[in-house]
Amino acid sequence: MTADAADAAGREPDGAEEAARFHTLLTSFEGRPAASAGRGKDPVNEPMIRHWCEAMGDANPAYKGADAIAPPTMLQAWTMGGLSGHTDRSSAYDELFSLLDGAGFTSVVATDCEQEYLRPLRPGDAITFDAVIESVSPRKTTKLGTGHFVTTRTDVHADGDLAGTHRFRILKYTPAAPPTARAGKPAQPKARRPRPVVNRDNRAFWEGVGDHRLLIQRCTACATLRFPWLPGCNACASPDWDTVEACGEATVFSYVVMHHPPFPAFDPPYAVALVELAEGVRMVTNITGVPYDKVRIGMPVRLEFLRMDDDLVLPVFRGSEG
Ligand code: ZN
Repeated sequence: MTADAADAAGREPDGAEEAARFHTLLTSFEGRPAASAGRGKDPVNEPMIRHWCEAMGDANPAYKGADAIAPPTMLQAWTMGGLSGHTDRSSAYDELFSLLDGAGFTSVVATDCEQEYLRPLRPGDAITFDAVIESVSPRKTTKLGTGHFVTTRTDVHADGDLAGTHRFRILKYTPAAPPTARAGKPAQPKARRPRPVVNRDNRAFWEGVGDHRLLIQRCTACATLRFPWLPGCNACASPDWDTVEACGEATVFSYVVMHHPPFPAFDPPYAVALVELAEGVRMVTNITGVPYDKVRIGMPVRLEFLRMDDDLVLPVFRGSEG
């Protein structure tokens, strides 16, 4: 690193002139390799194609059988280093990152990727790739914070032919301060949870919640249960229904932990779960009684009604640790 670079890396560039100077320094990385003569850890192969198709739910027959090709969107998968990584990464990418880190742009988020396909990949193709730092944007301010977009282009070769190009863009940024910490602004009163939209198709559900009863719709023509509430039956199209009351037993079918973006009435991180009721239908809900990082698939949970404020009660599910 040059003396100028060390100087620029040592402090947050805030003035426009300084930001422009810092950007000029960043653009000196454009065109430098991020990885040279990289090698795919495995040739294109049927098991990886099958796992990908299963994970994506893609049943296209082109990806099966003797003349199978790989799904084009797998392009990047063949270049990935896995947990052990690649040894062919260049120092330029690391230098660019330390420069951005040093200037306070310490957070990173992947923003988008673009791919071009030039020829199909088939089982047996040996993959090599070269990656170049294609561009570094001027300083941009986004909702996440202020930083620079870095675009890397990877050219993927199969048995020596250019098979496709993968452009990957990240934002290296300084996180925006949380609203309560912004200078000069008093903390806002806590926002209320969003209100459910109650209409004639789901009014009886919310009336049930008001009475601390979780009601599932049941088609009176074919007895199929449905949740969330809908105007007609997906199984037989009948518009006629009655309800059954959920017994309250359920298990966590799946869940995510929300870290970002923050919503005013929610305190991240928190778990949002898809629970499967004993009756067989599933619903999206919150899990109470268990820290967000202790929620697990298959965990038994039990219905309870949580009063959020004066006029909102929500059905949630309580788990227990251990
Ligand atoms: Zn039905």
